Parts: sequence; C-alpha cells; structure tokens
Amino acid sequence: MNRILIAEDEPRIVAFLEKGLRANGFTTAVAKDGHEAVAMANSSKFDLLILDLGLPGQDGWLVLEELRGRGEHLSIIILTARDDLSDKVAGLEGGADDYVTKPFRFEELLARVRLRLRDRHLPKGKEEMVLKTGNVALDLRTHQAWVGDRPVELSAREFILVETFIRHSGQVMSREQLLSRVWGYDYDPGSNIVDVYVGYLRKKLGACLIETIRGFGYRLRT
Ligand code: CA
Repeated sequence: MNRILIAEDEPRIVAFLEKGLRANGFTTAVAKDGHEAVAMANSSKFDLLILDLGLPGQDGWLVLEELRGRGEHLSIIILTARDDLSDKVAGLEGGADDYVTKPFRFEELLARVRLRLRDRHLPKGKEEMVLKTGNVALDLRTHQAWVGDRPVELSAREFILVETFIRHSGQVMSREQLLSRVWGYDYDPGSNIVDVYVGYLRKKLGACLIETIRGFGYRLRT
C-alpha cells in the first residue's frame, strides 16, 4: 500500500485530500507545519509527499531544500496557490517531481500521484493501465478511450468522469460526489454541469451506459 504524507496547514484542503486519497486506497498522514513535515518525511516510510509551499514554521521551499539536501528520495508534488512560471521552474529545479496549482481538481492531483508512484515502482507495474467496463475501455497512460474497437475522443474532463464512474462501478454517485471528484472542491453545488457532461458521455459512449437514478444521481451500468 502506498503511504502519502500531506504537508498542508489548511484544514479544508487536508480533509479534501485525505478523504479522496483514502477512498482511492492510499494511507495518509498529515504534517501541519514545515518542521513536522521534515521530521515525518525523515522518520517514517512514505512513498510520496504532497507539499504545500505556504506552510507555517518552515515554508515548503525550505522543506524541499532540506529533504533533497539529505538525499531523501521521496517523490514530491508541490501544492501551491502561486501559479507564476518562475515558481514552477524553481520548484522543479529544487527537486520537486511535480506541481499542482490551487484550486485543483482532486482527480487531477490523483492522476499525478499515480503517475509519480508508477514511475517510482515501475518494475512492479501492478497498477492497472487499462480500465474496462462492458465494451468501454480507458487507457490511463495515453488517455485514449474506446467503445469496442472504435477509438473515441474524450475531453480531459469527460475522461476523468468516465474513470470515476468505472472506479465506482455499480454504485450510485450523487451529483455532489461527482462534482467534488471531477471538478474539485471549488464548485457550485447548484451547478448542472454533471448532467451536461453525462449527456456528452451518453452521446459518445452509448445512451445506455449511464443510468439516471431519480433523486439520487447516476450509476454506471455494469
Ligand atoms: Ca498553506
């Protein structure tokens, strides 16, 4: 099982990350400031660190510097509200493996987490690369979708939505669950965007694929 250390001081983001990562089979631990992050990264065995740059005590840059200075080989994904390019370049040169800007969608972060862990454990390669349900298949590496032998063009958001449905096959997913998983935590709960996208998927992948459960949400037919 992959263990992820979350170094983040905003409770709302911590809760959002822990919930999502645990639901996807990861073990999580939280460091609320920079000193704690360094100590935990050194003392315990983690596979990956999600590192907020704006941490109290010792900021994310210093944490990064210290960990890399000690030759710590943990995969590190930086999380930050700052989205200018100079920060991005500095972060990657300072030894981070990847970079996610707030606000972010959970599935976007999850994709990067999986990618980093996959790189790290490449020889094992246990992670499924192709997800399937009925005659629909998704290649998680190339982001290609198929219905039977026919390739189908999906937008990034559509792809993530199908992936989410397949990972929860047979379960009824509420609009709120789909919004938070696919569109992130900064969404408007009154939005009808889920219904719109389910409509797109029915057109592209087949009208019967996704069932409407009146009053609850949607379910992928298996
Ligand atoms: Ca912060």
